[in-house]
Amino acid sequence: KNRINILGTEFDNFTEDQFHKYLNEDLDNHSNKFIVTPNPEIVLSARKNTRFSNIVNNADYVIPDGIGIIKGANNLGTPMHGRITGFDTLMYLVKTANDKKLKVYLLGAKPEVIKASADRIKREFTGIDLVGYHDGYFDDDKKIAEDIAAKKPNIVLVALGSPKQEYFINQFRDLNPAIWIGVGGSFDVFSG
Ligand code: UDP
Repeated sequence: KNRINILGTEFDNFTEDQFHKYLNEDLDNHSNKFIVTPNPEIVLSARKNTRFSNIVNNADYVIPDGIGIIKGANNLGTPMHGRITGFDTLMYLVKTANDKKLKVYLLGAKPEVIKASADRIKREFTGIDLVGYHDGYFDDDKKIAEDIAAKKPNIVLVALGSPKQEYFINQFRDLNPAIWIGVGGSFDVFSG
């Protein structure tokens, strides 16, 4: 794998177009893939948290979210193609799910935010089969994960903040082959 190490986090170095081609293939093949989108704060917190760092570096795609990562790569003499944000990746997955008529599950954010995000999907992306959604304030992780698996989504968008969302995905992704991505605060933006 062509990965670039920035202070211990190993980023994939490819263009956004190439990344989108991989995701397209993954969706067509029903592959189980985990995307993390570290920004500089996440790189710094991974330096202090070995468990988190291992999970990030073992993800299938480690995407540079933020110009700080690109500048850091330049300064270290290992330039990267460019930034690919978590939000843009969320939008690409939503559009692709709409075109391919796929099943999507939304997890995380405040109840009113996730409801508004689900409403936006139902309104604007009518090709998507929105199989479920749940806010990010729950106690029983396993129950939520089993509900997600029962609904067999092709894409699971998880917004619990870091490192919570990465821990959740790492623990439960094998219950259901899908594109799993931690999207941080993206629903707060997506919900409008
Ligand atoms: N969040 C959540 N459950 C939690 C903590 C956070 O659903 O237990 C949501 C929060 O509502 C927000 C998102 O996670 O929509 C991202 O939170 P934050 O901005 O703190 O994290 P970051 O984007 O910096 O990783």
